[in-house]
Amino acid sequence: MSKKDLLKKQKKQLAKKFKSRCYVCRKPFGKYFVFHHIYYVDGEPFYKDFKDSTDYQLAVLPFVKKNKRQFLLLCKAHHHLVEWRRSIKDMAMWRRFCKAGKMK
Ligand SMILES: [Zn+2]
Repeated sequence: MSKKDLLKKQKKQLAKKFKSRCYVCRKPFGKYFVFHHIYYVDGEPFYKDFKDSTDYQLAVLPFVKKNKRQFLLLCKAHHHLVEWRRSIKDMAMWRRFCKAGKMK
């Protein structure tokens, strides 16, 4: 079994701990779903220490297994949105953003 297949299999298995769906939109587990970190703990692997994302994701899986409260299962779109949300630094920025979205 290739590394990618192994990762796919293990992610699918672990996704069951999260009802196999995206935390935000409830879309059923599928391609490009990620275990998004809510917080990090000591001893976790760093993304920068890995040559590719498959190796990194495989290294993180034991942490998902050990403590699912550390993670959220998100689809690709909502993972991006959650990461992007961090670029909004305060309420003033958030209000301007919401206003911008409603301008006609
Ligand atoms: Zn989603």
